[in-house]
Amino acid sequence: MLEMLRPSKPELSRMMGAVTEHSQLLAYLNRIGVVKGDECRACGEDSESLEHYFCHCPAFSQIQSRYFGIDILLARRTYVASAEGN
Ligand SMILES: [Zn+2]
Repeated sequence: MLEMLRPSKPELSRMMGAVTEHSQLLAYLNRIGVVKGDECRACGEDSESLEHYFCHCPAFSQIQSRYFGIDILLARRTYVASAEGN
């Protein structure tokens, strides 16, 4: 826990990248012209953004469930189905 209060320079750089979305994720690299395309390297279903990684990427659903305490994919499918009237 104390390590979180005094991150190393590389850890601090990664945290700031996540906060500002200036990270190594393809959504950002594509936006600044470093790469072409931003399709998620883990699932290929959406743009590889921070939100996608944390909230929507099916490749990380077990991790999302463990840290957020709910099955995000199930919650999302239920929300979409209810929005579509199913
Ligand atoms: Zn993905």
